[in-house]
Amino acid sequence: MAAAGNDAKVDIRPGETKALRAAREVLRRGHIEAQKPAADGVKKFCVTDRGGKMETVTADPAWVKRPTCTCMQQYVNNQFKGTDLCPHIVAVLVREEDLRCQLLDVLL
Ligand SMILES: [Zn+2]
Repeated sequence: MAAAGNDAKVDIRPGETKALRAAREVLRRGHIEAQKPAADGVKKFCVTDRGGKMETVTADPAWVKRPTCTCMQQYVNNQFKGTDLCPHIVAVLVREEDLRCQLLDVLL
């Protein structure tokens, strides 16, 4: 069997690349603030992008509930695209160590 080695580059679809770029912008120039978690353990974050627009992201450390975001992009994702995640959610998943494994959902 061939070793994964050099060709381990992940095949990311264009829409995902765009979401990852936008997530990078949120991480570099935006602001993420943890809020009080919900009673069921779901974490809540206030994400402010560079333009000052504020969205609320929730993410379940147990990886049972899907992450949510209040932005229009995630609304569209939920309606039409199934599994796509918005840049705000991706930024939160990147930053929070106990949520980071859920980034795999972006790639699958
Ligand atoms: Zn969002």
